[in-house]
Amino acid sequence: MPLELVTVPCLSDNYAFLVHDGASGETAVVDVPEAGPVMAALAERNWHLTQILLTHHHGDHVAGVAALREATGARVAGAAADAYRLPPLDLALAEGDRVRIGSEDGTVLEVPGHTVGHIAFHFADSGLAFTGDSLMAMGCGRLFEGTPRMMWQSLRKLSALPADTLICSGHEYTQANARFACTLEPENPVLIFRVGSIAAARKEGRPTVPSQLSDEIATNPFLRAGEAALKAAVGMADAEDAEVFAEIRRRKDNF
Ligand SMILES: [Zn+2]
Repeated sequence: MPLELVTVPCLSDNYAFLVHDGASGETAVVDVPEAGPVMAALAERNWHLTQILLTHHHGDHVAGVAALREATGARVAGAAADAYRLPPLDLALAEGDRVRIGSEDGTVLEVPGHTVGHIAFHFADSGLAFTGDSLMAMGCGRLFEGTPRMMWQSLRKLSALPADTLICSGHEYTQANARFACTLEPENPVLIFRVGSIAAARKEGRPTVPSQLSDEIATNPFLRAGEAALKAAVGMADAEDAEVFAEIRRRKDNF
């Protein structure tokens, strides 16, 4: 039985995710921008929280951890590399480590760039990837700590997951990201279609997260830095992929 996923809006534009295994009754949350909405989502379903999984140390991803741990006794797991600046960890994780929810194993992927200790969680059987502020819907996180080359490698790693993987990312930034993507590939038919779907979803107040990896590969300019069309769009037809990525990231920072 696949894991059940619930997207929980937090703060002004963050998401936490509940991941529930019906057979065992185990429930994990990925990132805790604030405890209140997560507690409410658990209570509504009568689920008991057993694990807190953290993608990175930024306040808008961990601020609710202490209160949630206090209320539920859930164990906290996050990157070993960032243990010194994350809330106290019960489990410190590195590339290739496993986290188990019920009978399903998730794999830890190190995806530095936004921060140097950023990790993602991939649950292959359920087709879910929790990418925080690394790969985002139509975008990627700002490079606060890592280099463009580092983030490009991280995005390559995530884009190699199965194409039907649901990308559960940390923010509702999709509409602004889409506006930027259109400046680079105004003729991309998949992008044009997606912009319409995003506008419709936001008009009705629906989240645009999670998104499917195949849609990201077809429309997200940060995943497309190796494509000839993108290289041509930024006037770097002969440049290396990572250099094109760096230029796209620079343009987005100034958009
Ligand atoms: Zn962040």
